[in-house]
Parts: sequence; structure tokens; C-alpha cells
Amino acid sequence: MTMPSFGSATEGRQRSGPARTVPRRLRNRGTQKPTLSRTAEKSSNDIRSGIMRITKNTIETTPGPREWFTGAAYIDAIATPTGPSRVNASSVRFTPGARTAWHAHPNGQTIYVTEGIGLVQRRGAPIEVIRPGDRVFFDPGEEHWHGAAPTRFMSHLSMVDVDEKGNSATWGAHVGDEEYGAAPPI
Ligand code: MN
Repeated sequence: MTMPSFGSATEGRQRSGPARTVPRRLRNRGTQKPTLSRTAEKSSNDIRSGIMRITKNTIETTPGPREWFTGAAYIDAIATPTGPSRVNASSVRFTPGARTAWHAHPNGQTIYVTEGIGLVQRRGAPIEVIRPGDRVFFDPGEEHWHGAAPTRFMSHLSMVDVDEKGNSATWGAHVGDEEYGAAPPI
């Protein structure tokens, strides 16, 4: 028994057969000069040759330090200050009930919820529920905390500009169970 062989000379000849039935106006298309831009050509070639642009992450996930977190939270670095850049971005995953201690950021902070249901509170304001797609900006020096709801995971991206000494936050007291328990139902 002969195994099918793709791209063999025989098959090549067989393939050329049906092409003759293609109307002349369509056959001409194959001889036209490609109109793709250089970029599009490159992209098309990458797909054909199977190139994927993956940047390997070699930095380990860091548990949120006990001094700064209640419960288990995990931090993955996205960007760290380099050269003139002061951008510090990370992905933070909170397990149910986990939250940061009270803290403030010298140049403020943006968090963007990517998964789960979370809680956030500014000093002197009620606790608020945050969900995927929600974005919260904390003003420079504004005391606050953020974390997961008691029964749900929560992940958010965090973006801060560190100060001239490289500090991203100043930390205060933990958010106690009673304080955390004042959250509204999710
Ligand atoms: Mn914060």
C-alpha cells in the first residue's frame, strides 16, 4: 500500500489539471504583483513560518509581604523603573479575603480589575465593590486599601510612578477583620 504523499511530483501534476478549468480572468490574478505593504508581507511570512513573538517571563511570582498584606496575595512584575522611566506596573492576585494594608502612593496609583470581585476603600469613605473592567485612581498621598471580596478571588493590574528615591508606597496599619467586615454585599 502506498501512503499518500503531499507535494509529490505526481500530485503536483494532478493539481495542475483542475487549474486549467479556472476562467482566464481569475488565472491572471496569480500573476499580478502583490500589493501587500512591507509590513503586511512580513506579518504574512511570520504566520507561514510559524514564528510567534513570545517574551518569556523569567521573574518569579512574589507573595505579598506579610507586613503589607492580610491573607495571601501574589504579585507578578510587568514593568519596573528603568533609565528615565518611573513606571512600576504589576499584576496582583488576591485570594478570597486577602487585602492590602492601609497605604498611599507618592504619585498616585491606577488599578484595573481583570478578574473576580474586589473591595476598595479610601480613608473616610465607605468600602466600595469593584469588578472586571473597573479602573480606580488613587490620588498622590491618598490613604486607601484594596483587596478581594470575602468569598471571591480578585486580580488587578497596578500602575504607579515611583518617587525620586524609587519608593512606590508608604505603608500603615493592616485592615482588621471588623474594618474589612463593614463591606457591602457583593
Ligand atoms: Mn494602592
